[in-house]
Amino acid sequence: MALIPCAACGHTISTEAPSCPSCGHPGATMSKGGREGMARIAGTVAGSYISAQMLASIIVGSVAIVSFAAIMIAVILKG
Ligand SMILES: [Zn+2]
Repeated sequence: MALIPCAACGHTISTEAPSCPSCGHPGATMSKGGREGMARIAGTVAGSYISAQMLASIIVGSVAIVSFAAIMIAVILKG
């Protein structure tokens, strides 16, 4: 067990800690976990990025559908 400074806030934390008790930064196990820790962090980042992209797609899709429906209703009411 060793103490290392948190990469995010500089708070001294144990390498055994799964996350920084001060700020919650999950990188504390990186020096111990090595590749596994990196993969976990990369997965978390990729997951949140994909979620944001999907959320944006859903919002854009909803706006497109509502716009299309509004145009169709306008065409139907005119005709
Ligand atoms: Zn921290």
